[in-house]
Amino acid sequence: MRSRLLQRNLRIDPPLALTGQGMLIHDSNGKAVIDGSGGAAVACLGHGHPRVLEAMRAQMDRLSYAHTALYSCEPAEQLADMVLEGEPGGLTHLYLCSSGSEGVEAALKLARQYFVEIGQPNRRNFIARRQSYHGNTLGALAAGGNMMRRAIYQPILSDAFHHVSACYAYRDRRDDESDAQYVARLAAELEAQFQSLGPDTVAAFIAEPVVGATLGCVAALPGYFQAVRAICDRHGALLILDEVMSGMGRTGTMHAWEQEGVPPDIQVVAKGLGGGYQPIGGIMIGAKIIDALRDGSGGFMHGHTYQAHPIASAAALAVQQVIREEGLLENVRAMGALLEQRLVERLGNHRHVGDIRGRGLFWCAEFVADRASKAVFDPALKLNERIKREAYERGLACYPMAGTIDGKRGDHVILSPPYIARPADIEAIVARFGDAVDAAIAGLP
Ligand code: PLP
Repeated sequence: MRSRLLQRNLRIDPPLALTGQGMLIHDSNGKAVIDGSGGAAVACLGHGHPRVLEAMRAQMDRLSYAHTALYSCEPAEQLADMVLEGEPGGLTHLYLCSSGSEGVEAALKLARQYFVEIGQPNRRNFIARRQSYHGNTLGALAAGGNMMRRAIYQPILSDAFHHVSACYAYRDRRDDESDAQYVARLAAELEAQFQSLGPDTVAAFIAEPVVGATLGCVAALPGYFQAVRAICDRHGALLILDEVMSGMGRTGTMHAWEQEGVPPDIQVVAKGLGGGYQPIGGIMIGAKIIDALRDGSGGFMHGHTYQAHPIASAAALAVQQVIREEGLLENVRAMGALLEQRLVERLGNHRHVGDIRGRGLFWCAEFVADRASKAVFDPALKLNERIKREAYERGLACYPMAGTIDGKRGDHVILSPPYIARPADIEAIVARFGDAVDAAIAGLP
């Protein structure tokens, strides 16, 4: 082991990513790899986009940093205007930070502050979903339900977070239930959670519109988010939607919630905001919260040294301009349809693929030992990791994960290519992915 960086795995030195161009990353072993997942659904414009690089250089020449206690800056102001321009949910303000987890922390704290400002300080509880991931900082981790990520930190997580089931029809809808009955059951579970906590103690319900890093691209059934919104409204709680992974165009609409028709009070964004060109995340906020702060204490009791950073904002501004000016949402929808079609053709009948699901350019295959019983593979086999390795051998980067299914680990692999993908890229991604799946399963002991 040579690396003195604390890597994710202390036993393996990963290759160095040396250069990136468009859909490709070139590594220190001389390998060119298609970035079939944009990292973790981050690199929405691929790598080395000239307009983004130029915008960053230009901003560096003008101003690298100014503290927000004294100043705002041009690119952050322009980014707020661009992101909020024509925003269909009535969200009026943008707070900028440096990651998805920071965005979730800001959302939770803002919800809490809002209720203090309007004279409801007893609202200290948050309801989230068991199958969810909201980030790795302590507040975000407490909100998330991913048991594998939470396990060793459980004793130091806040007790203000409570969990209900996510909407995961593939595994959790009973055979004798219709979609509507399943949604009604989930709504009843959420209502019961409000009642057991005391409805006037709940600040917010937080959920991912399309679950990312815990289940892999699971969208809710029609009617679910309407039911959730109605329950929050009935009890005066806020709805926070975490679109860190699924937002900013990834699912084919700018915001994933648009496909549900249910706008949130606070929306968290990150990955697709800056496309990985700079670390940046943020929250979009509705007018009633801003008004309460403006009429109350006068400001958000929160902040970070690097919030609304000029170069990060300039990079994100350029990313957002490119998405809008180059019609990339249309490309996400068209290439997403092709990706779905090819995945279903290649793996739809595979005896170890239980489910293929997703939206836009956000697709996942869930692997099962047995299709009929949906039994998971032995976690010790780490099938998702094996698929990642076989795919990399074949020149494809994908995003594997072990979800939590009934307390056990399940195997999922996400494909979330950049929005600039062309049909030939999609064909190559699915061809390499299909071969990797076959090779990984053939190689199981
Ligand atoms: N929320 C969701 C839905 C995510 O998928 C992630 C990261 O994968 C986060 C929050 C945390 O973001 P970050 O890793 O940038 O802190």
